[in-house]
Amino acid sequence: MDKSSRLPGFYKLSLEERVALVGEWAGLTEEERAVLERGLGPAQADRMIENVVGTCALPLGIAVNFLINGRDYLIPMAIEEPSVVAGASYAAKLVRQGGGFVAESTEPLMIGQVQVLGVADLKRAAQAVLEAREDIFALADAQHPTIVRLGGGAKGLEVRELTDTPVGPMLVLHLLYDTRDAMGANAVNTACEAVAPLIERLTGGRVVLRILSNLADRRLARARCAIPASALEGEEVVRGIVEAWALAAVDPYRAATHNKGIMNGIDAVAIATGNDWRAIEAGAHAYAARDGRYTSLTTWEEDAQGNLVGRIELPLAVGIVGGATRVHPTARVALKILGVRSARELAEVMAAVGLAQNLAALRALATEGIQRGHMRLHARQVAIAAGAKGELVDRVAEQMVAEGRIREARAREILRELDVGRDGIPPYSKE
Ligand code: NAD
Repeated sequence: MDKSSRLPGFYKLSLEERVALVGEWAGLTEEERAVLERGLGPAQADRMIENVVGTCALPLGIAVNFLINGRDYLIPMAIEEPSVVAGASYAAKLVRQGGGFVAESTEPLMIGQVQVLGVADLKRAAQAVLEAREDIFALADAQHPTIVRLGGGAKGLEVRELTDTPVGPMLVLHLLYDTRDAMGANAVNTACEAVAPLIERLTGGRVVLRILSNLADRRLARARCAIPASALEGEEVVRGIVEAWALAAVDPYRAATHNKGIMNGIDAVAIATGNDWRAIEAGAHAYAARDGRYTSLTTWEEDAQGNLVGRIELPLAVGIVGGATRVHPTARVALKILGVRSARELAEVMAAVGLAQNLAALRALATEGIQRGHMRLHARQVAIAAGAKGELVDRVAEQMVAEGRIREARAREILRELDVGRDGIPPYSKE
């Protein structure tokens, strides 16, 4: 079977046809295909969080066309916002023309923080902690033999002296911990808790916090793409995209929206795969402000050959085991569709999706204006809210867009007008 993710006309298929195609592409069993329809059941949900009364579903779409490090991917995206899946697929198609995305990642190193107060001599205490490095690692590693066996566990130790805080001086220990294919919050927190008594003995102080940092800046993912100007309909578009990005580079008001667009893609993959998107959001935005001024997570430039070159770098603490990744049935199927073999590969794919999403938004903003395409989809939602079904959804939406009036009341009016066929049959069904 052709394993290209370039699936022309995928959007024109019916939902059933899409499930069949993706099912065949990814080798899904009948049961896994059924999961796409059924989703998370109430009994499973009841075991996941507290006080459960039901579930709250989101649409799951598939972004096509992604070529990353020479491999084709179909990208499951769970999101309620129209245009995101289409935008990612469109941008990935452009990027294919430049050879696809090149992505890489660091080792999956998380930072666990241990906060120590009441230390008499910060310098001496810091020295004592660093000298006991091997003992601290042994204690941390004893908590998670599986992760250690897989090559993870404690890998580094740093001590920071914070002298100017609202409660006086404190010492903060950073335990660098390789979580392998897990997001790792629980593993890191357990390791921090385990080393705390030893840290108190070594420093003579009192440990308060023992928890991971979501500013996972030792666990970065990067992606790069180069798109020929011809694919973008000329150098003017290339220049327009670079100019649009430039505002995000210098202005936090624009950067917040620019990065929100990036996170549209990254969060959608995180949610589809059962990952903790709040952790990813926290890390991404803290990283965007790492130099003291909040800025863009991407860069765009024109290279010497006139190609548009984009880059993204951000922390991506994601897992393919642990958390909800294997508990949520849809997440399990989404991971199978994606076919990633490690947490690092998932992070690399997500970085590429973020870059694609950013390209789609910038291209639209720099050229036709994002509103036109978006309004068409927004109008469909309004039409559905007004009660339109089947082909009437598009009929009502098109008319509202043409009139420039996208309101539920107007949709109801149009529905009434369209519905008055002489024989009582709505006009659309006669075509
Ligand atoms: P987890 O607790 O389920 O741990 C993963 C387990 O998988 C490990 O104990 C390990 O033994 C096992 N494992 C099997 N194969 C592995 C492999 N190849 N690589 C690594 N581990 C392997 O999951 P977690 O990732 O520690 O925790 C993630 C959850 O923690 C998320 O759901 C998140 O919402 C939550 N959380 C987040 C925060 C935060 O971000 N601030 C804080 C607390 C909890």
